[in-house]
Amino acid sequence: MDNTPLLRNFVGGAFVDALEGEPAPVLDPATGQTIAYAPQSGGKDVDRAVAAATAAFDGWAGTPPGQRAHALLKLADAIEEHGTELAALESANAGKPLRAVLDDEIGTMADNLRFFAGAARGMEGKAAGEYLAGYTSMLRREPVGVVGQITPWNYPMMMAVWKIGPALAAGCTTVLKPAPTTPVTTVKLAELAADILPEGVLNVVVGGNEPGAALVDHPGVDLISLTGSVDTGKLIAERAARTLKRVHLELGGKAPVVVFDDADLSTVVQTVAATGYYNAGQDCTAATRVLASAGTYDAVVAGLAERAGGFVMGDMRAPDTTLGPLNSQHQRERVDGFLTRRPDHAEVVTGGRTADRPGFFYEPTVVAGLRQQDEMIQREIFGPVITVQRFGDEDEAIAWANGTPYGLASSVWTRDIGRALRVAKALRFGCVWINDHFPLASEMPHGGYKQSGYGKDLSAYALEDYTHIKHVMASLS
Ligand code: NAD
Repeated sequence: MDNTPLLRNFVGGAFVDALEGEPAPVLDPATGQTIAYAPQSGGKDVDRAVAAATAAFDGWAGTPPGQRAHALLKLADAIEEHGTELAALESANAGKPLRAVLDDEIGTMADNLRFFAGAARGMEGKAAGEYLAGYTSMLRREPVGVVGQITPWNYPMMMAVWKIGPALAAGCTTVLKPAPTTPVTTVKLAELAADILPEGVLNVVVGGNEPGAALVDHPGVDLISLTGSVDTGKLIAERAARTLKRVHLELGGKAPVVVFDDADLSTVVQTVAATGYYNAGQDCTAATRVLASAGTYDAVVAGLAERAGGFVMGDMRAPDTTLGPLNSQHQRERVDGFLTRRPDHAEVVTGGRTADRPGFFYEPTVVAGLRQQDEMIQREIFGPVITVQRFGDEDEAIAWANGTPYGLASSVWTRDIGRALRVAKALRFGCVWINDHFPLASEMPHGGYKQSGYGKDLSAYALEDYTHIKHVMASLS
């Protein structure tokens, strides 16, 4: 297996070889080259990690919030100190322009952890009191227990941080399973945490879907948190029902961008291109489904096509590279399949094909003329493909925006504050941006409606998701 690094699982505070499975190659999606080998862990590896997390639980749950916060603050510092190295690893494993990871992810992850460190110390609840004469009632918020956390490949490092932040802050111990193609930075995070967290508090099991399924089935796991596709979310919810464990699902999206006649069109086009093609469109909130009024449609289509032409594919380390590849050959074929199956009335304004270069690149694409029931409108493409539809009036815009199975993020663009708030109220999404698209804050919840899932990442709501509420009632007699 030459000199290519072999990743290892992190269990009970130590790096260990997987108990089963042959290591598989991990690729750089920008070149298709092997950059590491990853264990393909199985059920026995999950059993061992759950045992370690179980052994660590009482101690971590009983650690005062201030001390747990201190550990999270140290981890945030370590992420910043190792920011350059983490960014280089993430860029190579996930196929992201290095500049973007450095600028957008390192500081954000540190901020997330610092937020949860603070939030751990200030959990709120109902006042203790005599709600029944002769009894004092009080509420306790207690950690759910051992949690299984399963992450996707589009932001492997940031999703790992989004998962462990609230879980560890709440006093849970965790077994984290990264996506099959992108384990590198999760293992590196475990290395950074090794000197900071008590053994067994954070465990990482690397592999395909099998260890994920084993976590879902495991009777010693109290909650499963997944960020992934809707199909996986449904499978997990069904399987988790067998042990009635709690499920926390951050799933796919199909974010509508509703553009009215009075919108600032140059900002619309700039923002949609920047956020629709960000991370090559592999983002659950990507601005990839534009609904434009009749008065803006032509300008939006032309503006997006022009912007698409300005993206630069190339070496992920080069500062002028602005568009990375898709995460895998499989994902590129999936994206191309939507284009191949497009209906006759679809107009591919630009792109629509794989890029002629090594790795898994796909040309930034704009497709106009689509109808509401077309596959490209109804299903998440998860690639650099922006669709544009022309709506008639506000009611139609709302109906179309809401007219897919997803409900994660959306945006409305208008200078009319009444209309902005009316549409924001009518949109059935976990987030509505007004005159922008994409920004997130550690303090604000991120999560879906409908088939985009349930449970929240970020914010104090995420912390609550990792706790039980216990009512303690004392007789005063
Ligand atoms: P995926 O569902 O294929 O895989 C996600 C994770 O689930 C992986 O670690 C995978 O190994 C694991 N998994 C797959 N089958 C499993 C099973 N039967 N049991 C247990 N675990 C299983 O998703 P993906 O392709 O890696 O990621 C892309 C998806 O993630 C997109 O749909 C995207 O929208 C979504 N996503 C959502 C958010 C959000 O916050 N809502 C954020 C990022 C990505």
